[in-house]
Amino acid sequence: MSATTPAVSTSPLTAWWNNMTLSGIYPSISTTSTTPSTASSSWSSHFIFGGNPSTAANTPQSTVPPSALSSGYTEDITVAGSLLKDKITGLMDTLMGRESVHAGCGYGEDGRIAMMVDKVYLVDRLGSHENLVGTVHVTTTHIIFRAENGSKELWLATGLIASVERGTLTAAGCQLVIRCKHFQVITLLISRDKSCQDLYETLQRAAKPVNVTELLAFENREPVDDARGWKRLDWSAEMARQGVLASQNPKWTQSRINEGYTICDTYPDKLWFPTAASTSVLLGSCKFRSRGRLPVLTYFHRQTEAALCRCAQPLTGFSARCVEDEKLMELVGKANPNSENLFLVDTRPRVNAMVNKVQGKGFEDERNYSNMRFHFFDIENIHVMRASQARLLDAVTKCRDVAEYWKTLESSGWLKHLRAVVECSLFLAESISRGTSCVVHCSDGWDRTSQVVAMCQLLLDPYYRTIHGFQILIEKDWLGFGHKFDDRCGHVGALNDEAGKEISPIFTQWLDCVWQIMQQKPRAFQFNERYLIEMHEHVYSCQFGTFVGNCDKDRRDLNLSKRTKSLWTFMDARHDDYMNPFYSPTAHVALLDLDTRAARFSVWTGMYNRFDGGLQPRERLEDLTMTAMEHVGVLESHVAQLRTRLAELKSLQQQQLSTSATTPTNMIDSGMSSATDELKNLSISHPLDPLLNTSTSSSSTSRLLERATSQESGVMDSSLYYPDEALTRYSLKWQPLRGADRCSNPTCRGEFSSTIERRIHCHLCGMIFCRRCLKSTPDERERVCDKCKSD
Ligand SMILES: [Zn+2]
Ligand SMILES: [Zn+2]
Repeated sequence: MSATTPAVSTSPLTAWWNNMTLSGIYPSISTTSTTPSTASSSWSSHFIFGGNPSTAANTPQSTVPPSALSSGYTEDITVAGSLLKDKITGLMDTLMGRESVHAGCGYGEDGRIAMMVDKVYLVDRLGSHENLVGTVHVTTTHIIFRAENGSKELWLATGLIASVERGTLTAAGCQLVIRCKHFQVITLLISRDKSCQDLYETLQRAAKPVNVTELLAFENREPVDDARGWKRLDWSAEMARQGVLASQNPKWTQSRINEGYTICDTYPDKLWFPTAASTSVLLGSCKFRSRGRLPVLTYFHRQTEAALCRCAQPLTGFSARCVEDEKLMELVGKANPNSENLFLVDTRPRVNAMVNKVQGKGFEDERNYSNMRFHFFDIENIHVMRASQARLLDAVTKCRDVAEYWKTLESSGWLKHLRAVVECSLFLAESISRGTSCVVHCSDGWDRTSQVVAMCQLLLDPYYRTIHGFQILIEKDWLGFGHKFDDRCGHVGALNDEAGKEISPIFTQWLDCVWQIMQQKPRAFQFNERYLIEMHEHVYSCQFGTFVGNCDKDRRDLNLSKRTKSLWTFMDARHDDYMNPFYSPTAHVALLDLDTRAARFSVWTGMYNRFDGGLQPRERLEDLTMTAMEHVGVLESHVAQLRTRLAELKSLQQQQLSTSATTPTNMIDSGMSSATDELKNLSISHPLDPLLNTSTSSSSTSRLLERATSQESGVMDSSLYYPDEALTRYSLKWQPLRGADRCSNPTCRGEFSSTIERRIHCHLCGMIFCRRCLKSTPDERERVCDKCKSD
């Protein structure tokens, strides 16, 4: 397409869009912009409705240093800005009006995309709102829909596009359906067929980055210093926490055998093996396992000293053996003082494992491994899971008829697959808690193995059920041991056929399993559903480098810790969004009494129907509870402040009483009278009045107060001054969550697009704001809106 587009008409556009990138139009990237609303790094999502991004007119201005603005250049810049705007509008018009040229669409020499289509209808799928008419912009990183009446602004990171479908042309226009990886479905109606085709092609291109560096995470134009997030997992510290090194002669040690990723490039460079295992045993086993993924320790159960190990399938074929591998398994068994026997769990259905034998892979022969008992679990492969999720999405987004919904859901098998993962994890957790070590593999040991191994630890160890511990678990068993996030999420080359076969919702499925368990054990998790959903979104959005790359080595080669930001740092700043109000750290230790009957598994509508406002409850129970708790907290601290003040006043009153007994006239003359007057007023007007009177009141006090009042001296003791506002500072009533669908800040009015975006109260006025319109007080104890802050 770029070949047919005249270079002269595309390059100014490209330059313009590039310029917009630089001037901070993308809210998720903090750049040179000086406007607080766009420069803020706290935009919580790619979907910002009704936000306040820079417009074409002020874009050129915002790149000029403020000093230039203040020294008389302002007018020139304004004129230049508007001239530029006119020029661009003119160019756009020429392009849009000319049939022979692709309407406003073009690729720059560097592959950057710029496109604008106006008179586009945003169709409400559920029909609960009117269709909005507006303009669609496509940039290198985002698709933006801006309603003409300004009521809506929708940002979508292009990394989130899963597919774009083009409908047939009807009288009303041509439909374009954009399906997203985080389950939003955007339906656009475009009257001109040509524009629709152009937009379709542009989106296809935008959703298919060829190179990993085209991802949003690399758009960062500032140096990244995000060590806190990038160094989240310290392997040695984590193994020490598990208790690996607790005994005098640890049975497990850290090996440097994989330093520089020399023996296995998809494993981390620090690995733990039985202390008794020699290098030759390890190297031998490594050669015998698919992709060199030999058995390594991932979890050590402190109480029973049983170990959880993971690996890939052996290259057995029909009869091959490996003495070193057998030896290593024996040593894994011996490292457990309670039982030398161990379970070997193959997560695949037996028939799939048999098929692998034909390719020279397969599973271990029990006869060669004397201490091993074999178990197969029927967890299907990535292709089955991909198809299953597609069917599930059909059920939750397309079916209007109840019978059809259940039929489609049933045929998807999604809940059945979830149950298989949970059952296998439960088997592992039970075995380990009884003192039997387990070794787990599937084919390559990075999909199903990651799922069940991580889930098993979540069930066993309450630490992994905390906000921080959950990140450690993901860092260790998903990122560390090499789940292929690039390939499975389709970060790069998503729409090409070959790459398409690698895509599979393995991590999403695991998050779904976590959610299912949260439903059964609501008190066991420190985090709530929002934590999982937001994490899921950012796995796909590629706004952060955390989930970019297929393994540890990839991330190091791409130098992600220097070039991109970490999701964990972003999430650290939102800790309170993820708190589960029902969490009780002592309620559970291991979650071994899970009910795995089919009826306990349900569709996670909070995830899959997240953007279908009409289908969701308008308020989450968790949020209502959190808000109530927060309000009570604020009021309690206010009461505490008042109590302190009251005590101060009481002691002062006592002092006055003792002083007045000796030199009453002095006191009155020294200006205390006014203060006493204050005290009296306070005691009359304050609701806690009885408290003050019952404990200290005596007839002499009243008389003293009366006298003091009658002899007003007009001088105020500043130490006694207590402003009235302090008493009425806190709003007793908070704005209810129900019906709060926009930020209360009149200059923002940002829309809360789904229940994921938390509605947050200002601690003073009690109104609801979006996150970027609230600031913490310097002591970090309160959150206040701009208005309350300036008052
Ligand atoms: Zn306020
Ligand atoms: Zn706001």
